[in-house]
Amino acid sequence: MKTIAVLGSTGSIGTQTLEVAREQKDIRIAALAAGRNIKILEEQIREFHPRMAAVWDEAAAEKLKISVRDMDVKIVSGMEGLLEISTLPEVEILVTAIVGMIGIRPTIAAIQAGKHIALANKETLVTAGHIIMPLAKKCGVQILPVDSEHSAIFQSLNGENPARIAKLLITASGGPFRGRTREELAGVRVEDALKHPNWSMGQKITIDSATLVNKGLEVMEARWLFGVDLDQIQVVVQPQSVIHSMVEFTDGAVIAQLGTPDMKLPIQYALFYPDRRFLGGARLDFARLAKITFEEPDTDVFLGLPLAYRAAREGGSMPTVFNAANERAVSKFLRREIGFTDIYKIITECMDAHQTRQNPSVEEILETEQETYELIESRW
Ligand code: NAD
Ligand code: MG
Repeated sequence: MKTIAVLGSTGSIGTQTLEVAREQKDIRIAALAAGRNIKILEEQIREFHPRMAAVWDEAAAEKLKISVRDMDVKIVSGMEGLLEISTLPEVEILVTAIVGMIGIRPTIAAIQAGKHIALANKETLVTAGHIIMPLAKKCGVQILPVDSEHSAIFQSLNGENPARIAKLLITASGGPFRGRTREELAGVRVEDALKHPNWSMGQKITIDSATLVNKGLEVMEARWLFGVDLDQIQVVVQPQSVIHSMVEFTDGAVIAQLGTPDMKLPIQYALFYPDRRFLGGARLDFARLAKITFEEPDTDVFLGLPLAYRAAREGGSMPTVFNAANERAVSKFLRREIGFTDIYKIITECMDAHQTRQNPSVEEILETEQETYELIESRW
């Protein structure tokens, strides 16, 4: 029996994690956490019987307390609630499927409490990777990637000597706007940006995939997870999303993981690593798969990638500015307050205005996030 807690249980990764738990009978759900969707959370509590559940929003938590008063479950709220859930004694693996930098403190607390982390919440590693990776090493816990590209790399590295990595090749679908010009990109609508060609995901990451900011975040995530230099990471556009990522080794061999696009595979792999379990669903059919094609990313149009490299090269608090500016800009775009390419403008202006602090503490990271938000509020 494996005991896990899921932060962000009502979201795209969270619900798929619970699907895996439903199939694999030997996973016990000790705790669940969500933002404010108490309707779905209540259904999850009734099905999985966690002993604790957290709702970020206090008013929603109070409502939930009343509706589940017939159940044996403690309802908590706010950051305190998230921290309590992340450090429950019986939890072995914390699945971080929450969206945004809000995941930093719970992830750190869980590592300190000796929990392995099944990490979907890439924003946490992007902004605090320099704190999280050494801490995980010190505490003897594993950071198990859930992001499909990083899971593919992790699988490709199985049994290999990490010192023999020449290059990580992170694949990208190119998003719904692949092939468009800058001018065309400026006029795209929210509905179009939310149509990812291959993957069905939460709203924020779907927009990030359209801007290629997601790929930029994944480059930074990979750098921390696998301890490689930035110039050892190459992004390759592979529009069919069949190859989930690859590793080139010093002898020139390239090992890749392929499959149909289904996030349950990386989730399940993280939960049972190094074992593999049966997972239902479509299989790759090479006879019907007409072709797999490759392109270079268009970094003149999709500025998400070059901006991310700039933030990563600068290091310190700059990735936090990149990430926080993007989080706010994406919210504004989703509310139709700004255009699509304004997301790049906002990230660029916030990065231009920022004085990098090297090796920032958690407090400094959160301060930088706040400063970035304030700058955006004052300008846009
Ligand atoms: P989502 O928007 O579908 O779900 C987010 C979840 O977080 C929801 O359950 C929401 O209630 C919860 N949440 C938000 N704010 C919260 C708060 N303050 N306190 C507690 N819970 C809160 O997002 P998603 O697409 O599942 O993505 C989650 C993370 O996984 C992101 O970091 C994303 O980049 C990463 N990821 C997602 C996918 C995917 O296929 N969806 C793939 C790779 C990586
Ligand atoms: Mg990914």
